[in-house]
Amino acid sequence: MISFNLPPTVGTELDYMRQAIENHKVCGDGAFTKQCHAWLEERFGAQKVLLTTSGTSALEMAALLCGLAPGDEVILPSYTFSSTATAFVLTGAKLVFADIRPDTMNLDETKLEAAITEKTKVICVMHYAGVACEMDTILAIARRHGLLVVEDAAQGVMSTYKGRALGTIGDFGCYSFHETKNYSMGEGGALVINNAAYNEPAEILREKGTNRSKFLRGQVDKYTWISYGSSYLPSDLNAAFLWAQLERADEINENRLAAWQRYWDALSPLAEEGKIALPVIPADCVHNAHMFYIKLRDLEERTALTAHLREDGVLACFHYIPLHSAPAGRQYGRFAGEDVYTTRESERLLRLPMYYGLDPADQDVVVASIRSFFGR
Ligand SMILES: *Cc1c(COP(=O)(O)O)cnc(C)c1O
Repeated sequence: MISFNLPPTVGTELDYMRQAIENHKVCGDGAFTKQCHAWLEERFGAQKVLLTTSGTSALEMAALLCGLAPGDEVILPSYTFSSTATAFVLTGAKLVFADIRPDTMNLDETKLEAAITEKTKVICVMHYAGVACEMDTILAIARRHGLLVVEDAAQGVMSTYKGRALGTIGDFGCYSFHETKNYSMGEGGALVINNAAYNEPAEILREKGTNRSKFLRGQVDKYTWISYGSSYLPSDLNAAFLWAQLERADEINENRLAAWQRYWDALSPLAEEGKIALPVIPADCVHNAHMFYIKLRDLEERTALTAHLREDGVLACFHYIPLHSAPAGRQYGRFAGEDVYTTRESERLLRLPMYYGLDPADQDVVVASIRSFFGR
C-alpha cells in the first residue's frame, strides 16, 4: 500500500530531544522553544511567534485575543477543519460561513462584504493547501469595516503571498506542527502576533493567566495572576523535535515541491483532455506543496476513482465535509448567501499521497492508476 501521509522525520530529532533532557529543561519555553521562536520570527519576518500545544490552541488564543463577546459574528469558510470554527465557538461568537472560490478552495473575497453585519468583528481566512487567500482585498475590506483578521495558516508554513509569509499578514496567524503537516512536533503549533500591542496579553493567556514570562525576563520581581489564561505552551521535548525539522526546512520544502511538480507534469495531459482538474496557484502565491489534489467530475466519479486507486494499492483521501452541513455547524453558525461552490467543489476533490520523502516510483504507480481509470 502507498500511504496517503507519512509524518516527516529528518533523523536528528532524538539527538535534540536527548539534549533537552540533559539540559534538565523539558517543560515549556526552554532553549529549543526559544530557538524555534527566533527561527520562525526571522525567517518569516514575524513580529512575534509563540509555540503552542497545537494549531487548534493557536486558533483558540487568537480567538480569545480578538476580545469577542457572545453574539459577535465571525466570518469564515465552511470548507475548513473543525478547529477553525471551534476556536471561535469558545468565545460565544456566532459563525457566519461564506462561500469559497472554486479555483483555490479559499474564502471568496468577492462574497465577503455581503456577509458582514453590524455584529461582525473578525474575518478568519484559511489558506487551503498552503495557497494564499486574496489577502490584499480581504485586508482592505477588514479595514473599511474595522474588523480583525485571523489567518488559519495551519497548512501554510513556508508559503508566501506577494513575498510575505502566510500568517504574518493579518492580525494573528496560526500554524500547525501536527504530524500530518509539512513540519512536525507530533502535536503542536504556533501563534503569530502581528501587532505588538497583543504581545503581553498573549504571553499572559499562554502562561495560565500569569505574567510569568515577564518575571523570567527579569522585568518584574514576582509573578502573579493577571487575567484569564490557560496552558498553551508545549514541552521543550516537542520543540527539540521541531527544531530538527526547521533546521532542514528548505530541504523538506524542496523535496515536497519536486513531488508536487512531478504529479503536475504527469497529470497535465489528463487535465488538458478535460478528464480532471488540477490545483490553481494564483500568480501572487508561492505555495509549500502541502497537498496535491485533483478534481473529478462529481462525487460519483470520485468514489469510483478512490476505489480504483485502492485496488492498485494507493490510498487517496477526500477532504472536508462542509462545516455548515455538520451538526455543530448548524448549531453554531449559518451560511451567508448561497452555497454555490462549497459543497459542489468539496465533493469533486481527491487528495493524492503527498509527504516528505515520497518515492517517485510510488508516484508513478499513483499516476498510472489514475490514467488507467480513464482508459489511458
Ligand atoms: C491541521 C489543521 C488545524 C489544526 O491543527 P492541530 O495542530 O491539529 O490542532 C487547523 N486548521 C487547519 C486548516 C488545519 O489543516
